[in-house]
Amino acid sequence: MVDAPPSDLRDGCSVDAPPTALTAAAVHAARHDIRTWVRHTPLVPSPSLSERVGARVWLKLETMQDIGAFKIRGAVNTLLSLSEDERRRGVVTVSTGNHGRAVATAASRLGVRAVVCMSELVPEVKRLAVERTGAEVRIVGRSQDEAEVEANRLVAEEHMVPVHPFDDPRVIAGQGTIGLELLEDLGRVDHLYCGLSGGGLLGGIGLALKSASSSTRVVGVTMEHGAAMAESLRAGRPVAVEELPTLADSLGGGIGLDNRYTFDLVRRVLDQPVLVSEAEIAAAMRFLFREERLVVEGGGAACVAPLLREPAPRLDGNVVCVLSGRNVDPDKFMAVVGEKARAN
Ligand SMILES: *Cc1c(COP(=O)(O)O)cnc(C)c1O
Repeated sequence: MVDAPPSDLRDGCSVDAPPTALTAAAVHAARHDIRTWVRHTPLVPSPSLSERVGARVWLKLETMQDIGAFKIRGAVNTLLSLSEDERRRGVVTVSTGNHGRAVATAASRLGVRAVVCMSELVPEVKRLAVERTGAEVRIVGRSQDEAEVEANRLVAEEHMVPVHPFDDPRVIAGQGTIGLELLEDLGRVDHLYCGLSGGGLLGGIGLALKSASSSTRVVGVTMEHGAAMAESLRAGRPVAVEELPTLADSLGGGIGLDNRYTFDLVRRVLDQPVLVSEAEIAAAMRFLFREERLVVEGGGAACVAPLLREPAPRLDGNVVCVLSGRNVDPDKFMAVVGEKARAN
């Protein structure tokens, strides 16, 4: 379920991508373009979290987005920007996670051919989920690497168009539309808590919010098990990190050693990275289920974990937590939320 693309796909992307500027205007344009294809998701108050931190805490329910995660925004925005010729050639991805679902669904809605390459080892339920969207599944080899080789071949030989999960201005602008919805619904955001992996989500929202008010504080939350962006920020350049299994699987994957956009953007808009433990992610999933009756995947719940720390942080004004997705295996979810609450 890791959404990191192979490096060749990234190169292909950079060749095809138009030089879209990363500006708030690009996010406004995306908002206009995708509005009939993507849901304006609910923003609901959380009385329990508000009481904890002494401010108004709001939950942005990207869990209610079609496909159950925000990535449909960037995928639709990218596909809408394709030329007639690119649309005919079709799009390709190797992700079987939220990015793969988003690309497959967006393509089927817009009448564009999509191929998702995956290895024989991908569980049948995931394959069926992709097939249900109408995308073509190509099963190749016994590893993610072999699936990537096939995807690269489709790009090189059949001229299919790769869609990057985060490092593309069109994707970033699409995810940034969440920020515009927050401004519309709330007027102002004082603190943003958001999951951080490749940085398309946080970069896009941060761009939209900070263009409206530079005093908005942006907090990016990642798991300790493979915090590629946080490590890269510390090193001052994109670095690879060891990846360990994590409950926040949708936050896995590197940022790409040849990162073109999100590293610089995140460096610009992020005020504070926070690393959370597996126990803290589990506690956040449990909290959201028990207190708010919400089903949220690990990568979507992680952003709430800093608010659950002791002593509780004291905040002011409007605090927004972006619950970015709900696509978690039901058995895994039940095991996590069923566990007795314990101290972290
Ligand atoms: C992809 C994803 C993220 C991280 O988004 P980036 O743009 O890679 O930082 C967070 N939450 C969920 C549910 C995701 O699918």
